[in-house]
Amino acid sequence: MNKEKSWFKNRVCILATMHKKEEVMASLLEEKIQMKIVVPDNFNTDQFGTFTREIKRLGNQTEAARFKAQKALEITGETLAITSEGSFFPHPSIPFVSCNRELVLLLDTFNDIEIIATELSFETNHSHASIQTVEEALSFAEKIGFPEHGLVVMSRAEPEKSDKIFKGITNKKELIDAVEIALNSSPENKAHIETDMRAMYNPTRMKVIAKTTETLIKKILNTCPNCEFPGFDIIETKPGLPCEMCHFPTDLIKSEIYQCQKCNYQENRDYPNNIKYADPMYCNFCNP
Ligand SMILES: [Zn+2]
Ligand SMILES: [Zn+2]
Repeated sequence: MNKEKSWFKNRVCILATMHKKEEVMASLLEEKIQMKIVVPDNFNTDQFGTFTREIKRLGNQTEAARFKAQKALEITGETLAITSEGSFFPHPSIPFVSCNRELVLLLDTFNDIEIIATELSFETNHSHASIQTVEEALSFAEKIGFPEHGLVVMSRAEPEKSDKIFKGITNKKELIDAVEIALNSSPENKAHIETDMRAMYNPTRMKVIAKTTETLIKKILNTCPNCEFPGFDIIETKPGLPCEMCHFPTDLIKSEIYQCQKCNYQENRDYPNNIKYADPMYCNFCNP
C-alpha cells in the first residue's frame, strides 16, 4: 500500500481562495494527491486583506494563510484546507525592482498536520506610478504587460474609505475612463496607477502560484522515514560545499537537516540536488 497517499486520498479539501487560483492549483492537487478539491463560493478572502490596502492584512504571510485556512474549516465544518498568500517587496539588491514570495499552506485538523511551501520569484510585474495624464497611464500600462495583466487606478496611493478604487482594468477604454475620473477627483490633478496583483489579473503571479503548489505536493509526498507522517521537511541548512578546485569549504549549502513534525526524527542529507562541489567562483580562496 502506498502510505503517503492514504493521509489525504479521497478527502474533501477546501481550497480557500478567490481570484481563480483553483485554475492552476486544483488539478495538480487532485491528480497528485487525489484530494477532492472544493472551492467554497461564499468565502470572501478579501476580508483578510487586499493588495490595494483598503483592508490591511493581519499578521505575517504564514499567519494570514493559516488564519484563512482555519476560518474556511470553521465555515465548512471540514478538516482539510489549502490556502495561498502572496506578497511583494523590493528586491534586496536591485532598486525599484520587486520580487514575489508565494506561500501555500495545507492545514489538516484531523491529523494535526501543517505543511507550508514557499517560492521566491524575481519575475513579477509588480509596480506603481503617480501619473498626471492619460498618456502617462498608457505608457505605464505598456510596460507592465497590459492588457493580459490587469491594472488598478485610484486618486491616491493610500486610499481613504470614500475613494473610488478601479480594479481589474483590462481594456484601454476602461483604463482611460478610470484615469480621467481619478484625475478629476484629485485636488492636485494626480492619480495613482498600479498593477493588479490578484491572481486572475496577473498571469505572471499565477505561474508562481502553480510552482508553489508543486513544491507543496513534493513536501506532502515526502514522508518521515521513521513514522511515515507526511511533510518531512528541511528545518535547517548547513553551508560548506567544497570548492571544486581546492576543496576549501564555500558558503554554498552542503547539507540539509530534515525533521518530522510528528515524531521529531531528524535526518542529515548531504549534497542537495546531488551537487558535490561548488563552482570556484563561489570560493573565497580561489576567487577572493
Ligand atoms: Zn516521524
Ligand atoms: Zn577554491
